[in-house]
Amino acid sequence: MRKPILAGNWKMHKTLDEAIALINALRSELDSFDHSAVDVVVCPPFTALATARQAIGDAPIGLGAQNMFWEPQGAFTGEVSPLMLKELCQYVILGHSERRQYFGETDEGVNHKIHAALEHGLIPIVCVGENLDQNQAGETAASVGGQVRGALKNVNREQMPGLIFAYEPIWAIGTGMPATGEGANEIISQAIRSVLEELYGARVAQQVRVQYGGSVKSDNIHEFMSQPEIDGALIGGACLKGDSFAAIVRGAIEAKGL
Ligand code: PEP
Repeated sequence: MRKPILAGNWKMHKTLDEAIALINALRSELDSFDHSAVDVVVCPPFTALATARQAIGDAPIGLGAQNMFWEPQGAFTGEVSPLMLKELCQYVILGHSERRQYFGETDEGVNHKIHAALEHGLIPIVCVGENLDQNQAGETAASVGGQVRGALKNVNREQMPGLIFAYEPIWAIGTGMPATGEGANEIISQAIRSVLEELYGARVAQQVRVQYGGSVKSDNIHEFMSQPEIDGALIGGACLKGDSFAAIVRGAIEAKGL
């Protein structure tokens, strides 16, 4: 069985003091129930990673970054490398739609980053998802499938269990208009697991964890987590408060019957 994973993407939020306060709040909420059946991860901005690491201490909370460059070091002003991240965290979000939309990230760049992350022992959370036009034109499966293929170029079968996908329809991110559980389940099945099966076989396709992301809250997490193909969530807005993120974690555990 795939272990569910709930990851909070803080985006460009939280000063150092605010980061400590959020992690302390999350820790105390999570202390009140057994969440060992799921992975809980926070992804602060680069500036707060070291502080977050300290604030997490020995609590069972994973830490991730929101992006990175693929080179290990060099003259790349403003960039952060996998070598730097692996001293601080275990996960890295790659190809988030905001990076694709505002910072020109391409499938090819995401592919380079995935190789670099895997090479340095970081777990990539690879975001894929269609925009509203593609969705309305009935191009969702083709668009998402294309992103999955692009992301995985020359990634071999042995590396695959170390990789996580997040299906995030762009029109659902930050809009308060989530996909339906059934709709997300269908796209994950048709455009992610089926491509994984074609590329790596059924066993690998069933091993890889796939999250849903897009306006997830405590009152809709049950709908997503009760779907067979959905192994967790990537959460933006609702992860910025300890109680609302913890309520999502609790809801996910209940929905999966763990
Ligand atoms: C995200 O940032 O990946 C996201 C899904 O955001 P939100 O939960 O706010 O829609």
